[in-house]
Amino acid sequence: MATSARKPGTTTTRSPRPRRSAAAKGRGAKAGKLIYTFAEGNASMRSTLGGKGAGLAEMTNAGLPVPPGFTITTEACNAYYTAGKEMPAGLWDDVVAHMKGLEQQTGKGLGDPENPLLVSVRSGAAFSMPGMMDTVLNLGLNPDTVQGLIRLTGNDRFAWDAWRRFVAMFGRIVLGLKAEDFDEPFDELKHSVKATLDTDLTSDQLRDIGNRFAEIVKEKTGEEFPTDPYRQLELAVRAVFDSWFGKRAHDYREFNKIPHDLGTAVNVVTMVFGNMGDDSGTGVAFTRDPNTGAKELFGEYLTNAQGEDVVAGVRTPEKISHMRDVMPEVYAQFEEIAQRLERHYRDMQDLEFTIERGTLYMLQTRSGKRTAPAAIKIAVDMVNEGVLTKEEALQRVDPAQIVQLLLPRFDENAKLQVGDRLLGRGLNASPGAAVGQAVFDPDRAVEVRDAGNPVILVRIETSPDDVHGMLAAKGVLTARGGATSHAAVVARSMGLPCVAGAESLKIDYAKRVMRAGSVTVGEGDMISIDGTTGEIYAGELPTIEARFEDEHELATLLEWADETRRMQVWANADYPRDAERARAFGAQGIGLCRTEHMFFEEDRLPTVQRMILNAHAATSAKAKADADRTDEDREAIAVFDEALASLETLQTDDFAGLFRAMDGLPVVIRLIDPPLHEFLPSHDELVADTTRLRTTLELTSGANGVDAGIVQQGLVKLFGRKDAARAMRKLNLSAPEKGGAASAPVDRSSMEAELAEKDELLHAVEAMREQNPMLGLRGVRLGLMVPDIVKMQTRAILAGAARVAAEGLTPLPEIMIPLVGHVNELRETREILEAEVASIVETSGQQVDYKFGTMIEVPRGAMTADEIAEHAEFFSFGTNDLTQMGFGYSRDDAEGKFLMQYVDRKILPENPFQVLDASGIGQLVRMGVEKGRSTKKDLKIGICGEHGGDPQSIAFCHEVGLNYVSCSPFRVPVARLAAAQAAIATTETRDK
Ligand code: PEP
Ligand code: MG
Repeated sequence: MATSARKPGTTTTRSPRPRRSAAAKGRGAKAGKLIYTFAEGNASMRSTLGGKGAGLAEMTNAGLPVPPGFTITTEACNAYYTAGKEMPAGLWDDVVAHMKGLEQQTGKGLGDPENPLLVSVRSGAAFSMPGMMDTVLNLGLNPDTVQGLIRLTGNDRFAWDAWRRFVAMFGRIVLGLKAEDFDEPFDELKHSVKATLDTDLTSDQLRDIGNRFAEIVKEKTGEEFPTDPYRQLELAVRAVFDSWFGKRAHDYREFNKIPHDLGTAVNVVTMVFGNMGDDSGTGVAFTRDPNTGAKELFGEYLTNAQGEDVVAGVRTPEKISHMRDVMPEVYAQFEEIAQRLERHYRDMQDLEFTIERGTLYMLQTRSGKRTAPAAIKIAVDMVNEGVLTKEEALQRVDPAQIVQLLLPRFDENAKLQVGDRLLGRGLNASPGAAVGQAVFDPDRAVEVRDAGNPVILVRIETSPDDVHGMLAAKGVLTARGGATSHAAVVARSMGLPCVAGAESLKIDYAKRVMRAGSVTVGEGDMISIDGTTGEIYAGELPTIEARFEDEHELATLLEWADETRRMQVWANADYPRDAERARAFGAQGIGLCRTEHMFFEEDRLPTVQRMILNAHAATSAKAKADADRTDEDREAIAVFDEALASLETLQTDDFAGLFRAMDGLPVVIRLIDPPLHEFLPSHDELVADTTRLRTTLELTSGANGVDAGIVQQGLVKLFGRKDAARAMRKLNLSAPEKGGAASAPVDRSSMEAELAEKDELLHAVEAMREQNPMLGLRGVRLGLMVPDIVKMQTRAILAGAARVAAEGLTPLPEIMIPLVGHVNELRETREILEAEVASIVETSGQQVDYKFGTMIEVPRGAMTADEIAEHAEFFSFGTNDLTQMGFGYSRDDAEGKFLMQYVDRKILPENPFQVLDASGIGQLVRMGVEKGRSTKKDLKIGICGEHGGDPQSIAFCHEVGLNYVSCSPFRVPVARLAAAQAAIATTETRDK
């Protein structure tokens, strides 16, 4: 067996191989068997035969017209890697035996000049990875078999076309040459003979260019182009195995979270030819429109062409409906097969076919990639058609697709106003609005993205080598290719907006520009692309929110989700407008209102600051007997109480607004949480301000009229030019003209007043300063140190509720205490709060209903949840803080400093602030639930950390028995679906 070394220049990056996941082998797979004929396989053998192999086998057995062939298994690929890229024992002999079988079946011979058998060698993994791995067509051709093909077909043009394609493809895929090595001489030839299309070339021209390609291979590799078909076959099989670990396939798997240890199968398929004349052709089609989900055949085909021409976008293909006019019988047969396959697989199919002299052959069937709106429409339609159950439909939609559907779109009105910025139109290949800098090269796209800029990747057409650039981009724009071109298919699968085939654009890679009529767009210029309409605009176009209420199919799907899920979905909302939106999205309550967000509003901040600056002094003054209080004490109390009273009025209005919006649904209001100094100016800023003021006053002391030049020089020396200019403006001094000096009166008194004010603030900030504020005086601790804040918020909540109840509505307030780590903290807070409630009841004479509960967000809180539950009617897990304190990672710094690297380097599988760390922090949650319910069996428990909107974390919450998840309003629809999927998964596991 020939096992010569692989040619130079291919990427063979191998990451450490994880243990093979124990994927089900499927019915019929036999241990140790490395090759299956199509007749031996079936659809359930995906993990062994790959998606393509399993599909070909299933179609063969269903009696559909499939060219004969066989599949080398994914196990063979894995064994090849385990053996250090050596064919596993017996594999090659087995390949040869199966080739003999194929020869018998077809009556042709591999390398037989009289009756040559040609095959394609195609990759095909268990998960569809469109265009990521390699395929070689027309294998078996050499100077002798080409002659045989000519004699047999009487079509020398076809034979030489096949030859030039084979040499170029084999050279590129198997021997590692670049596409340009062949494309450039080919384009030169077309140019020199004034041919526009490949089909304009004559048979002699195709022969000559094919032979020239073989010479190029020799020049570049130093070896003759391999003419022995078995040698060709061996090299091609190796190349497909190697492409599993090629960079682009690796990147794609990383992005799509596909395990690296599945391996690819290799399909060896008898060639059928779509390039045998105008009664031949090839195409790809979906059984439904992958953009909209509409129930109609959607696809493209080319006459007199091979498959690669359609996918690569070399020629712009015809719509599939056109085939009905030119080949009506074949079209009818194809349509019938398409429907049959869709019914058989109970899913929208992506089909590849070839027509050889009027005979249809099916080359592939697989579940088709689709956009978010299409996924939802197809799932709902298939339930209405009786094909799927509601539960199956719910599992067909990825929760991430709902996010995509609710993404912003371009504002159509803005488009009308900037009509003159329309650069052109292409195909609406993948929906959504994208704005970014035009970048013409995938590597540059990564650089520009890494520098923090949004990117639109602009290419003449994309190939698998561009995938890393696509991953870095917000959107993709191509000048060539159809709706099934590489760019379109890959962008759709990534959820990236894409405009393809905008043929009016002239893209110049060398100059890094594109021209649209008289407009030139250079690298870095902003452009906007609309993948929903195909429009391309210069500059940035404003976007608008998606209209949830217009998404009728989504509403239906989510209603089914609501019937299925066990957990409720609530929302985190601080303002009535957010609460209203959340409710429209289906939220069943507010799980977290962070009251302090209302304090940050600009017009309230001075009042909040007055309250804070006097909080500690007033609290200790109130603890004294009236007679013992000093004037200062009285002043502090007066200012503090006045500020609190103003805030109480404002907060009462805030809470009333929330209760109104959520009439009849629970609203969890969390009492103030962050450290107080967060409401004050930063310490560093105050030090800088006071130093500048003090020094400026110093420099100008004793002067009524001062020398502006001298002051300016002093200020520049001390603070640098920018701050000096600011100080000069404050001093009302203008910078002196060059050489001259200006005198001006200085308003020292206003500066002195400002300094005094800032000095006071600085002292207060210094007194409150903490080394670790996140672990400091915040949450429940703050309420215990300054109980008046707790009382004020309690009054505001209950007054807001009373007001709304008086309007005839039903407010359901739930008061939540943050950051409890010890039961005594909660007990004491509850006493303060209940005493206040009692006095409200006494004065108003009205009974008020509310629930009292706590967040569990400090690890000790989870560990002692049984004790804490004695004093709480509900728990809500604050998994942001629980993650911060459980891991010991600062939530404000970790992502910027090391956490993303941790994820990149696989030190951590995910960012734990996004996806709940089930095995660590999740154990704290589980313990909190179990302990809490050991005290109160029916304790209501939710989650309000960011994880409440993440599908994977939602599945965990379901598993540990939470009553609800609470997330940002936009994620409510996502959470509704994810909660339903979690419920279905649990039922399925239980039933098994
Ligand atoms: C949490 O810690 O998870 C939480 C919801 O509270 P915050 O993010 O406001 O600290
Ligand atoms: Mg928190």
